[in-house]
Amino acid sequence: MPEIRLSATARVIVSTPDHFLKRLTDYFSEHGDVSLAARKGRIALPFGTATIEADDDSLSLRTEGEDETGLAYMKYAIANQMLELANGEKPRIVWAGDCAAGGQPPFFREMRFASARNISPQMRRVTLQGERLARFARGGLHVHLLFPPKSTDRPQWPVTGEDGRPVWPEGAHKLVSRIYTIRNIDADAGKVDIDIVLHEGNATPGSDWALNARQGDLVGMTGPGGGDVPEADWYLLAGDETALPAIGRILARLPSRATAVVRIEVDNPLEEQLLPSGANVDLVWLHRNGRKAGTTTLLQDAVKAVPFPTAGKRVFAWAGCEFAAFKAIRSYLRHERKLERERHLVVAYWRRGFDGDNARKQQEKTAE
Ligand SMILES: Cc1cc2nc3c(=O)[nH]c(=O)nc-3n(C[C@H](O)[C@H](O)[C@H](O)COP(=O)(O)OP(=O)(O)OC[C@H]3O[C@@H](n4cnc5c(N)ncnc54)[C@H](O)[C@@H]3O)c2cc1C
Repeated sequence: MPEIRLSATARVIVSTPDHFLKRLTDYFSEHGDVSLAARKGRIALPFGTATIEADDDSLSLRTEGEDETGLAYMKYAIANQMLELANGEKPRIVWAGDCAAGGQPPFFREMRFASARNISPQMRRVTLQGERLARFARGGLHVHLLFPPKSTDRPQWPVTGEDGRPVWPEGAHKLVSRIYTIRNIDADAGKVDIDIVLHEGNATPGSDWALNARQGDLVGMTGPGGGDVPEADWYLLAGDETALPAIGRILARLPSRATAVVRIEVDNPLEEQLLPSGANVDLVWLHRNGRKAGTTTLLQDAVKAVPFPTAGKRVFAWAGCEFAAFKAIRSYLRHERKLERERHLVVAYWRRGFDGDNARKQQEKTAE
């Protein structure tokens, strides 16, 4: 990580500082490198660090980030988790230091819809135009798109609260958020492409927006998120059409010495895409042939049929798919293939019968 440059501090009064410190470090040990000695904890995440010291009635927090986005993510992550763990208590967190509250979060951009075209019958490539996009080209492939209500010409966007969490517009200005992958980015030209699946469903704000947006329409974008894929010799990449943009970007970045075994589920051959890569790629397309997305076991069966390399190779397995396949694939990689946590990442990109927000909440609650 580049040299740390920005920092912020807060002193937070809590009833049981040591208990809080223990629970915070326990939680973040799932997500990064964490140490806890005596009454001091240190948390290192991909985008920054935090040190937390307990005394008799408070916690002293210090967050650091390599840039504004990194620092904002650290403040947001620590505050969010403290408030989650507060159990009825309402600790007041007020950050002092770099990146003051009040303005738009550094990880937010207002974007304009520039154009769209179908690159296959069910995949629509939307091009968005915006400014200061260089930070979106590294440190994660994904963004949240924030769709304003149709009734407003002048959307309201989130601002950073005193505790570092975004304060979201409410009521008539409430935004709808959906997660997508940046398929292509040209920061100099101020352009990103997002490939959006046109899928079935009654209320599908993301899909609908891709179909109906007009030139100049505004949309919010926050990110980047999701981190980068680690270095490995052998990759397994699996997904349905919602993960096709991510798989395309991962493949494009792999070095020629890497091998990638790729299994992608789409409806039919018309949905296949060319996926350029310098790596040695073994790609198989799986076709549902009219069966509904999220109702088959095609992807999990294909993953289970892939022979893994013999010992000595650094393996990384990645999958993005519907919730049922996510559960099956993650369980297979963890329990049958016994892959360590840092050697696999499996994410539910959507869940049949649940909209974007609820699908994610359910996923967070789901243990293995
Ligand atoms: C990290 C990440 C990256 C993602 N990247 C992309 C991307 O680049 N492109 C992309 O298109 N999607 C991507 N997704 C998936 C996308 O966020 C979801 O599909 C989202 O639910 C779409 O929102 P919506 O408003 O169209 O439908 P929602 O309002 O969320 O859902 C309405 C109904 O449609 C169903 N539904 C949702 N998605 C699908 C689908 N794909 N097929 C069939 N039924 C569906 C739901 O189960 C629900 O019943 C990504 C998700 C994650 C977590």
